Amino acid sequence: MARHGASSGISSHSRRFSTAVNPINISLRSKQLIQLGRINNPDTFPEITHQKELQASSLTSKLDDCTGLHQIKQVHAHVIRQGHDQSCYIITKLIRTLTRLGVPMDPYPRRVMELVQFRNPFLWTAVIRGYAVQGNLSEAVSMYGCMRKEGITPVSFTFSALLKACGSVGDLSLGRQFHAQTFRLSGFCSVYVGNTMIDLYVKCGSMECARKVFDEMPERDVISWTELIAAYGKAGDMDSAAELFENLPKKDIVAWTAMVTGFVQNAKPQEALEYFHRMEMSGVLPDEVAVAGFISACAQLGASKYADRAVEIALKSGYSPSGHVVIGSALIDMYSKCGDVEEAVNVFESMNNKNVFSYSSMILGLAMHGRAREALDLFHYMVKQTTIKPNTVTFVGVLTACSHAGLVDQGRQIFASMHQTFGVEPTCDLYTCMVDLLGRAGRLQEALEVIKTMSVEPHGGVWGALLGACRIHKDPDVAEIAAKHLFEIEPDVIGNYILLCNVYASAGDWEGVLSVRKLIKEKGLKKTPAVSWVVDENGQTHKFSPGNMNHPMSDKIQETLEELVQRLTVLGYEPDLSSVPYNASDDEKRSILICHTEKLALAFSLLTTSRDCEIKIMKNLRMCQDCHTFMRLASEVTGRVIIMRDNMRFHHFRSGACSCGDFW
Ligand SMILES: [Zn+2]
Ligand SMILES: [Zn+2]
Repeated sequence: MARHGASSGISSHSRRFSTAVNPINISLRSKQLIQLGRINNPDTFPEITHQKELQASSLTSKLDDCTGLHQIKQVHAHVIRQGHDQSCYIITKLIRTLTRLGVPMDPYPRRVMELVQFRNPFLWTAVIRGYAVQGNLSEAVSMYGCMRKEGITPVSFTFSALLKACGSVGDLSLGRQFHAQTFRLSGFCSVYVGNTMIDLYVKCGSMECARKVFDEMPERDVISWTELIAAYGKAGDMDSAAELFENLPKKDIVAWTAMVTGFVQNAKPQEALEYFHRMEMSGVLPDEVAVAGFISACAQLGASKYADRAVEIALKSGYSPSGHVVIGSALIDMYSKCGDVEEAVNVFESMNNKNVFSYSSMILGLAMHGRAREALDLFHYMVKQTTIKPNTVTFVGVLTACSHAGLVDQGRQIFASMHQTFGVEPTCDLYTCMVDLLGRAGRLQEALEVIKTMSVEPHGGVWGALLGACRIHKDPDVAEIAAKHLFEIEPDVIGNYILLCNVYASAGDWEGVLSVRKLIKEKGLKKTPAVSWVVDENGQTHKFSPGNMNHPMSDKIQETLEELVQRLTVLGYEPDLSSVPYNASDDEKRSILICHTEKLALAFSLLTTSRDCEIKIMKNLRMCQDCHTFMRLASEVTGRVIIMRDNMRFHHFRSGACSCGDFW
């Protein structure tokens, strides 16, 4: 009897709300009541429920299909006509659709929410999330406050929306507060919320907290793992990334790709190739991003032997460069960096679809190899004959071409038109190109003026370009200004100190050299050791460091070099002693110069390759003046083509001349 009475009471109560409460809520409520043992028949009002459920599902699918505000308003009219305007479920869906289409939260979506009398946490969350997505974090937070005032307990989606918003604006302290609230109110952390927390801490640069959340999560999914692995990669901590990756129980393509691209981003190409190989061995098929990562690793290694393998992998995985613009563009970049700009041009021409990245890679590739005219022609073709809009990277390529060819006036014109005609804002990187262009041409004061009038705060690259130019033109006064700024912006980058040292040395100012050396010592900075390498026919890499005593062929290499020096001397070669930035005796300087790593690599290549073969040498640091002259003359006496890549650009030495025209 008691059971019966309760049942009829509930049903009349429910009927009173039947037009106001959404069907999902009704059935939810019924389920709760069944659980409480208060009714035993869930179908107390089966027809109404059924009809309302049908209407609701039709309305939500209509909302899913909406592509504009006008359509939404039509569906909204149906919502009202069919009596669903008090349904939290439908109105939540409506607000989420409005958010998806970028309709501002004020006034429409918010007003719709306020008109609902009994709001549930999902409805509140839709509005909170809407504000958060639209970048209005303070209003999202204030909505959260209103919701709490109404006594509504947030759900995990509420927190994930707020945490995500804190992450995207980098507000760590607010993020922490919501982190604490999550635990206080829900007592546990779902995988989804946990992942958002990791994301928050990663975006705020707090890797330790991100790791702590990860370690304390009761349950994790592959997203939790890869999020953290990728974050370690971005933070430059590949050891932690690798440690985490090895513990990941099931390694999917996303996780493998995070490792491959992580190593590429951190300039560890050999490791990237290793992981790619392991991925293949484990039976996971590479996707486009992983293949592009592999190609970038080959580009960093600069070895054409790997280049062939990269093309093979791209084709085998079904990503032909002609049909896949990402792969095509990556291959153009790779061939350019491997010293084979001809092959880069072939790939470019074979591509059916080209975008701004393909053009930019090609322009930059031509520029790096000193083919300035072709780079500029391609740029003009792109802006006149295609609908592709140039971007920052395109202009970096174009200005690099002008810089390496000494085309000052053209570079100036292009720099001016960049903003006026193409709407590309000058960035620090573009200013760097401009300073480089003027600096190389010896217009150091003008370059300094450009920096002073910059519309953005100059970064290390800009001052670095000026300092580099001072080295070429032996100007210690401007060098000191550049160095002063550089040492403030990048106090621990040893390359800057070495550059200043070189400027003093080239001007014969040994006191200056000593003062910089003292500074390096005080700061405890370690010099990056020079290394050059060549890849033999079997794909084996041979590395040469100064002195090269470890190489099995070192005796033969010494012999070859001595012989070569004699032949070059006949052509007028004199060691350029100012290339040694120490106050040493002339004889000491001579013996230091002859051991420069690229010379050792050259001798090795002369000994081990056939006469008709191009010699390709890679170096991690900038080539010195003496080595440049040495290579140029060596290409004449040996009749060999020598392609040399240092950390700045390519030099093609052929018959006693260099593609850079000795302008570098
Ligand atoms: Zn050298
Ligand atoms: Zn050169």
